[in-house]
Amino acid sequence: MPELPEVETVRRGLEQKLDKFIIKKIEVYRDSTVAYPKKKEEFINGLQNSLLYKWDRRGKYLIAELKKIENENIRFPLEKYSNNNGFLVVHLRMTGYFKFIESSTHPCKHTRIRFFDENNNELRYIDVRSFGQMWWINKGLSLNKIIKGLASLGPEPFSKDFDENYLKKVISKRTKSIKAILLDQTIVAGIGNIYADESLYSAGISPFREARTIKKNELIKLKESIVNVLEKSIGSGGTTFSDFRDLEGENGNFGLQTNVYRRTGKECRRCGNLIERQKITGRSTHWCPKCQK
Ligand SMILES: [Zn+2]
Repeated sequence: MPELPEVETVRRGLEQKLDKFIIKKIEVYRDSTVAYPKKKEEFINGLQNSLLYKWDRRGKYLIAELKKIENENIRFPLEKYSNNNGFLVVHLRMTGYFKFIESSTHPCKHTRIRFFDENNNELRYIDVRSFGQMWWINKGLSLNKIIKGLASLGPEPFSKDFDENYLKKVISKRTKSIKAILLDQTIVAGIGNIYADESLYSAGISPFREARTIKKNELIKLKESIVNVLEKSIGSGGTTFSDFRDLEGENGNFGLQTNVYRRTGKECRRCGNLIERQKITGRSTHWCPKCQK
């Protein structure tokens, strides 16, 4: 499943590739991919003639700001001349990815939605397991009211709201493991299994520790580790475990080298002890029992 660094990599790719992409035609191949509005015709009509103006990310949500371009000539600055046309929001879930295609080809059977511009450039959304979703939220409507998962998200790991004091406050009474806490999107946005394991290793904290027993100096370390691990991973285009693909549809084995994730039975890079694996709340957890206390 793509986590924050992968989604951020996709966001940057979309921003680069889709400079001046005005949606002229949309084909929806699977209705359930459209989460809102309820009728896919409304989604299609609403997005027509929209410029994908600016891409943001919140947790694992991609949020495109839209401008309605009624006449063919784009006039700058857009803020002054163009009407806001709400937002296109995307969640890739398990296996969703975008592909940018310059000379259109026949879509594969996992193609869910196709967006075309006037030159027939295509932004194709492909999703094997089909859990991914898209919303068109018209201007004047509240994103947070319509997308519940977006409203309940905790702070971004890079924001100043996410520090040791915040963590101390939210975990002080929690008996859950720190691993489970890090996976909870309402506590911190965007961290999944890979980066939870890697951050805890880097901070020297056992994933099994009861959250409330973690001391302030350890939380400082943990916050730093999370930020470092995520930043490094964004710099290398994400890890490429899971089905993550970039806009060219690549799923190469480049990307961040992990220290514990999927290294069960291999030697710890720090102490040489063997990396272990066990489930925590249903998720495979990888750690070094010697380095993490
Ligand atoms: Zn070790």
